[in-house]
Amino acid sequence: MCRHLAYLGAPVPIRQLVLDPPLGLYRQSWAPRAQRHGTVNADGFGVGWYADGDPVPARYRRAGPIWADGGFADLARVVRTRALLAAVRSATEGCAAGEAAAAPFGADRWLFSHNGALPGWPGRLGALAAGLPAEELLGLEARSDSALVWALVLHRLRAGAAPGEALADTVLTVAEHSDARLNLLLTDGTSIAATSWGDTLCHRTTEGSVLVASEPGDEEPGWIRLPDRSLLLATAEGTTVKPLIP
Ligand code: GLN
Repeated sequence: MCRHLAYLGAPVPIRQLVLDPPLGLYRQSWAPRAQRHGTVNADGFGVGWYADGDPVPARYRRAGPIWADGGFADLARVVRTRALLAAVRSATEGCAAGEAAAAPFGADRWLFSHNGALPGWPGRLGALAAGLPAEELLGLEARSDSALVWALVLHRLRAGAAPGEALADTVLTVAEHSDARLNLLLTDGTSIAATSWGDTLCHRTTEGSVLVASEPGDEEPGWIRLPDRSLLLATAEGTTVKPLIP
């Protein structure tokens, strides 16, 4: 399982969100504390962020571990953002290696990440992809379970579903066909939607900012752990959590 995080709030350097927190995503790439599956997250990483005045995010993804990328550390020091989604990857057996399989996945204004696995991938692909037009299946960003889950979410978003609805519907549909772990994270730069389904997820919401993360990035107060099988919806104004019920 990977580790991921999303942020909305006042502009801060990317480094402050990803590299500096003592137990944050950078450290979680080799020493996660709450990860239930896998040990290190060294099979790639990615960061997507929004710049003021441009609704389409930038992405920086690499196939190797985050600690081996000195260029990223430099970039993260000088680039500031109000909204970000980042992930470190521990690849699931049977899934493609490489940059294209590292989250965040993206399209239009969206950034997306999947922490989890579809056991037996690509078994049951027919059932899992049912309802997805062939061109969307052929256009997957990577040959991985996460890219398929992203295509299912994006298909629903493009059909007009709200972000929370698109995630909830995807999780409940995939879970009907597979004993999947589906911690999903989605942002358009102004809101975050997330699910906990099989692994840890928490948030810290303060006045004007929200961080949603697989596990706390520090020992400071304010982190709230979500119950498993929850749907979280957040904006910089506040966060709500409700059960995901089949
Ligand atoms: N299954 C996904 C992948 O292979 C996500 C992995 C994870 O959560 N560790 O990239």
